[in-house]
Amino acid sequence: MTSHSTSRLYQEAAANVDQATAAIDMDPKVRHILSAPMNELIINFPVQRDTGDYEVLQGYRIQHNNVLGPYKGGIRFHPGVDLDEVRALATWMTFKCALLQLPFGGAKGGVAIDPHLLSDAELERVVRRFTHSLGENIGPEFDIPAPDMGTDARTMGWMMDTYLNSRGPGERQNARRVVTGKPVELGGSLGRDSATGRGAAYALRHLYGELDRTLVGETAAIQGFGNVGSHAAVALSELGVKIIAIADVTGVVHDPDGLDVEKLRAHADDRGGVADYPQSEGLRVEEFFALDVDILVPAALETQITAANVDSIRARVIVEAANGPVTAEAAAVLEHGGVHVIPDILANAGGVVVSYYEWVQNKTSDRWTAKDVDERLRDAMWDAADRVANRRLERRCTRRQAAYMEAASLLQTVYGLRGIFP
Ligand code: NAD
Repeated sequence: MTSHSTSRLYQEAAANVDQATAAIDMDPKVRHILSAPMNELIINFPVQRDTGDYEVLQGYRIQHNNVLGPYKGGIRFHPGVDLDEVRALATWMTFKCALLQLPFGGAKGGVAIDPHLLSDAELERVVRRFTHSLGENIGPEFDIPAPDMGTDARTMGWMMDTYLNSRGPGERQNARRVVTGKPVELGGSLGRDSATGRGAAYALRHLYGELDRTLVGETAAIQGFGNVGSHAAVALSELGVKIIAIADVTGVVHDPDGLDVEKLRAHADDRGGVADYPQSEGLRVEEFFALDVDILVPAALETQITAANVDSIRARVIVEAANGPVTAEAAAVLEHGGVHVIPDILANAGGVVVSYYEWVQNKTSDRWTAKDVDERLRDAMWDAADRVANRRLERRCTRRQAAYMEAASLLQTVYGLRGIFP
């Protein structure tokens, strides 16, 4: 990939792309195009702290590819954000949208801050100033942000409002779809908040169907109890899975008899995390990953299952609800040991699928029911999972390779039909 690809995460994203494009014998011209982001934006912007002092923050927006449609991807607020991480995440978005056959390209943005250390007023100023600085680099038919780690529906409300205020009055209503994952009252879709977690559960159901096994009575451990992890926990519980451990940034809680997910949610909302949940014992992170569970769902950060801890993993199924939680080295060990890994570009695609539904509803001034959204989400996830399963059997490869090949094939076809200008 490009010479500036330094971080391990970006190298892994590049390797995913290289392997898939080679496996489908992609036209070298298209391989070149996909091997680097189209646009890379670095923005240094000032923000006033509550003390009155100013701080200059650095934000990024990487637009990887838009051959299938407008750039699409979340905005991450986390102290670990850097340019290479955002490049990797943007690259994965291109392949995720292609795998799900959405009319969107891939992008990602981020700011290296810990939103939990800012007051509400400071956070709002960060969001509004960053959005304003992005200016014409986002737009309802050009580049459409959404929530990711550290951002949520409220963030999207501020982004939308800031963007609309920079438009002429006649354009404003039509520009609401500049972001997705908005509060429902501002034009968000029903079911968007739970979409990534529910989508992961649909991908898991599909896998159990392929294996001719039932999920009822299976045990699971989930890392991350934010948007993705908490909704995945609810969706898995509804399917009869017993959630015996949940980890977040505050700690790990464990109950071999099964955690009450709703009670834990109320506790985490109240206390800012899962730590000190009364009906449980605490565990160390190493113990969490080594738990004797059927299903492990990493739904927090990238690079969590690595060469260092992969030998301790006892789960037989891993659902990559986060982006990039299993390194390539660890994935090879898992696959070799017969562990089923549902790759991130499939497992967590539910979020961008329902973001697309939100964008369509905004564009058509329509409002779909929660049931309608959920049924469409299920069909979209199962259709993609079917295609991945078929290609895997046909090519005798891993699910990750099959998912990337499936996505790369569509990108190849579209470039083939459009040609490369001039
Ligand atoms: P979030 O900010 O809502 O929640 C993140 C969770 O991870 C929190 O519970 C936090 O406590 C936990 N966490 C952070 N650091 C941790 C650590 N060191 N150890 C254990 N837990 C830790 O974020 P989210 O939106 O749920 O995103 C989680 C992952 O899912 C990210 O990889 C994101 O890119 C991916 N994802 C999110 C969406 C979406 O719709 N929000 C869609 C696709 C993929």
